[in-house]
Order: sequence, then C-alpha cells, then structure tokens
Amino acid sequence: MVIVMKPGVSQETIQTLVAQLEQDHGVTVGITNGVGCSILGLVGDTAHIDMDKLSLNDDVERVMRVQEPYKKANRKFHPEDSVADVSGVPIGGGKFTVIAGPCSVESEEQITGVAQDVKKAGASLLRGGAFKPRTSPYSFQGMGSDGLELLLEAKAATGLPIVSEIMAPRYCELFEEKVDLVQVGARNMQNFDLLKEVGRLSKPILLKRGLSNTYEEWIMSAEYIMAAGNENVILCERGVRTFETYTRNTLDLSAIPAIRKMSHLPIVVDPSHAAGMYWMVEPLAMAAVAVGADGLMVEVHNDPPHAKCDGAQSLTPEKFRHLMGKLNPLIELMGKALA
Ligand code: PEP
Ligand code: MN
Repeated sequence: MVIVMKPGVSQETIQTLVAQLEQDHGVTVGITNGVGCSILGLVGDTAHIDMDKLSLNDDVERVMRVQEPYKKANRKFHPEDSVADVSGVPIGGGKFTVIAGPCSVESEEQITGVAQDVKKAGASLLRGGAFKPRTSPYSFQGMGSDGLELLLEAKAATGLPIVSEIMAPRYCELFEEKVDLVQVGARNMQNFDLLKEVGRLSKPILLKRGLSNTYEEWIMSAEYIMAAGNENVILCERGVRTFETYTRNTLDLSAIPAIRKMSHLPIVVDPSHAAGMYWMVEPLAMAAVAVGADGLMVEVHNDPPHAKCDGAQSLTPEKFRHLMGKLNPLIELMGKALA
C-alpha cells in the first residue's frame, strides 16, 4: 500500500503516522521525501488496513493499494492451478468436467431419467435445483428438501455426484449431509453471511458470478469462503448484465483468462443462464472450451416446453448428446480429457 502525503506536511507528523501504522498493523513503512510531498510505502500484510479511514486523515492526499486484497485465492501466493475434488470427480488440472441436469428437480422419473441420459453422454456431475431463487414469489420455488431426496435417488441410480443451490445459512447442515457440490447462486454471491457459513462446510463450493460483479468482487467472495476454512472453491461464469437485452445475460469469456491470471481456482462456464436460449448453448459452450475453461454447467430437461423453470434455455437429452459429440475433439485439442 502506498500513502501520498499532502504537500507541506511536517516530518514530525509523518513520523507520528508511521509509528502508528507500524504499531497498529505490524507493517514496515519506508518514507520517500520528494520535492513537494512525501510518499509512504507500506510493506507487510495490509489486507486489514481500512483505506477509507486513512483517506480521511487531513494530512493524506491519496491512498493506493499495490497488492490485491485477496490472499488465499491469489495466484501470486499459489502459482499452481488448484484442483477441486467433488466426491472423487476432479474439476481443474487437465480435466474437463461437465455438470448437467435440469434447472429444477420436478419428479423422480424426471431427475433419474435426465441423470441417466447426461451420464451416457459424458457428464460427470448431476445438477438440479431444489431451492430455487426466483424473481417472482408466485413462480415455482422448487421442491425443497424433497428435491434433494430425489437427487439422491438419481445419484444412487447413476453414481453421479450431485450439485444443488443453497439459498440460506439455515440449510448448511442439510447440504453438508446430502449434496456433493454446494452451489452459491449469482444472487447470493455477496451474501456474506452465507459465504462465511458455507466456508465451514467440508463440501466443495461452486460460486457463481454475481449479476453485475467485477472479477475482484467475485474473487473476494471466494476469499470469504476460503478464509472461513473451505479452500475447495470452484468459480462459475454465468453471464453478466449489460445493455444488451437480446440474450438473458452476456457471457463474459474474458473472465476465464483473467481469472486464470488472478487466481489459482478452477473456473467453469454456464452457457445456459448466460444465453437464456437453448440454441445458443452449443456455440457458447464450444467457445468456453476454446478459451480454457475447466468445465461446463449445462441445463438439460426431458421436456423443455413443460419445464417448471428455465425451459427456454434447456437442452433436450438428444441435443446434449450432440453438444458432447462436438465438444469432445475440442477438449482433446485443448490438451484435456473429460473427467
Ligand atoms: C441455476 O443455476 O439454476 C441458477 C439459478 O443460476 P444463477 O445463480 O447463475 O442465476
Ligand atoms: Mn436455471
């Protein structure tokens, strides 16, 4: 962190501030006296220093961070890619992992049927929402814990580990017991209480990007989970809000190389929620492979026109099979193998 002092501030005042910073935060401060002003360079762990508070000091002109505020998720302190383990299925590290399934669990036949179909086509994790974050309180809210039971039946029938979204801290115990990969949805990316609580689970966390959040905000949310003790975090780009209204969201493919540079965490892409239209899922999925994603999350429904949620963006099992056929050579070309 760098602090630029206002012109004319006395050396005595600077020394007082330096002593205070060193004592309160355990940092070392180097002073550079320029022609018009002095600059303080803080070395050490500055993550806990409140920049806004420092800026309020009448003798301070400007405060700048030269290091990222995230540590555990930072590539700088962990140069190798981390590989998440979802009940034996890896995400990251040369594998390409496909998560597929309906937006929401609707019945036993639906979820087990889709599970069998997506497994046959090459998916290695089954998704299904049981607690649904819906814009309208009058829309289908999901089957709740009954939905998790049906997911477990589909898991028993296929061996596919299950992925489902948690909406509130009070469900942590339930998810710890039932779910293999706990999803934190876009709308909850900055629900810090929830992030702290899922940080105490032993299960890996799939953290979706918020609707309008920057890379740094997204990584800081991962940092919350990691700081609470759970370092098994996977990021998921699912499109962001832009001025474009043709698509549901705008898939930000730049996020993949950017996150790779900033963080060691694995990153997957959800083309379904990004596009909002089934026919756009295949080209976006191919782009995600080409840009180096570690995997995909794709919505697949046995009967999209009658789906209780997100039918328009759902692939039929047949279309999903077609997609996997197109992806396979591309995955190989990228030097990866299906998980
Ligand atoms: C979902 O995966 O079903 C979902 C609601 O996604 P998002 O949080 O990205 O909108
Ligand atoms: Mn959905």
